[in-house]
Amino acid sequence: MSCSRRDFLEISLGATLAASNMIEARAADPTGQSESVKAGNPSEPTVKTRFFFTWDHSTEWLLNRPGAQTIGASNHYGRATPVFIEDYHQIFTWCGRHHIDAVVVWGLLRDMHGGIDSVHKLCDMAEKNGVRLLCGVGLNAYGGVYYEGDSPWSLENHLAAHPEMLGVLPNGDKMIYNFGVSGPKKTAHACPSRKENQDFAARSLEWLFKTFPTLGGVQMETGDTRVCQCKVCRERRPNPELYTSWHDMALMYPIAAEAIRSVSPDAWISCETYHNPTPYAGKDPDKEPSFGEGKPAWADECVAKFPENTFVQWVCDRYVKPKNEYEWTAAGTVKNGRHRHVQRSHFGTYWGGTRGEAAIDEIADMVRQSTAHGFEALYLFGEVSPFHTGAELNYLALEHFGSAANPKADPDIFVRDVAGPLLGGEDLARDFLKYGRLKGDPAGIAAALPAVYANCARLPPEPARRWAWLANFLGAFAYPNA
Ligand SMILES: [Zn+2]
Repeated sequence: MSCSRRDFLEISLGATLAASNMIEARAADPTGQSESVKAGNPSEPTVKTRFFFTWDHSTEWLLNRPGAQTIGASNHYGRATPVFIEDYHQIFTWCGRHHIDAVVVWGLLRDMHGGIDSVHKLCDMAEKNGVRLLCGVGLNAYGGVYYEGDSPWSLENHLAAHPEMLGVLPNGDKMIYNFGVSGPKKTAHACPSRKENQDFAARSLEWLFKTFPTLGGVQMETGDTRVCQCKVCRERRPNPELYTSWHDMALMYPIAAEAIRSVSPDAWISCETYHNPTPYAGKDPDKEPSFGEGKPAWADECVAKFPENTFVQWVCDRYVKPKNEYEWTAAGTVKNGRHRHVQRSHFGTYWGGTRGEAAIDEIADMVRQSTAHGFEALYLFGEVSPFHTGAELNYLALEHFGSAANPKADPDIFVRDVAGPLLGGEDLARDFLKYGRLKGDPAGIAAALPAVYANCARLPPEPARRWAWLANFLGAFAYPNA
């Protein structure tokens, strides 16, 4: 049993490998509404807030520059500082035009891409585009506030100087180990019961918001790569927990939020839970639900202790298309009030699929089920440039589904009003999305490619470019046997 992102990836990669064996940015509108949202019949939107989630090392919006990685968490960074800045400049510009309200950056503060100076630039760019920049902050793991570098606010440096404050595994080993998926990179985990570590997290967050007064907020986590098993932690938790800890969240999130709000009262604070709100009903009721599975029966008592006016962040991949591994029951309905609830998925990434692939039906299912269960805020990964048409369509779907133009997340309305104009018409857009699902079907790819190539030849340049992207996307799954 495991809930680590590594295991989640391994499961996902297995499926992907098995399968492989066989707007342009629209001109900004002075009213703030892009064409995709203005289209259709206006009615009440069901989605109010939209986020992009990114790791710095896997973000690649500036094309034709080396060093981006295609998946990972806590990887090294491989691009140049000006490229890092331009990657996010392009993201903020696009998001400002397309109603993406906030962009989370994990690895935001790193010496490798300019440290404090670069983050000042990102804050300015985000503010100019009306988008909130959120710093990804691991409170007990994932590096703390200053992700990597020569800083007193690096959790790694803090624990290197105070090894007695490291968390411990059940066998007594200190919690320093690799969990990355793109090469070794040891990460240190703090014991959350230590007052010194709690104070370190609070002082780090105060420094963060004093240093960057226009920073939009944080997306914070307490760790999903095992949690401290020291005697104090075990006795503090009424329920035993090994991989993630609701009790650690209930302990740390209020401390962090108080520190943030002491400096920046209006900051957005998103609190990760690593689970779906549906009560876990697996075969073994004593099993600790793993990453993306439902919550334990007692988890609500912990969520109730999360600080007021924060986002509570959930995961839905295993409850929606294409996995549909579990039923998202009525008991998995959230109430907005003390908290706002935000749902996230990993569509269009190697965390469960193929990076850059279109996932329109999946996103529609996510939006429909999320809004039916009380959610009004959504996350999607935003690491891939919309030059890759699959990613572009996903991002536009995030904008369109749940908006006033398409409150019920109807894919047909999206195809008619958004995808059609980009791909040569409504019928061609349907073909495009149908062909985009052929990655595990070499015979189907071979049959479709002549029509795809023909569209490249007869359409105007921008729709043709998108069809050319599809030709290469599909052709890669057939190569070298095509
Ligand atoms: Zn501990």
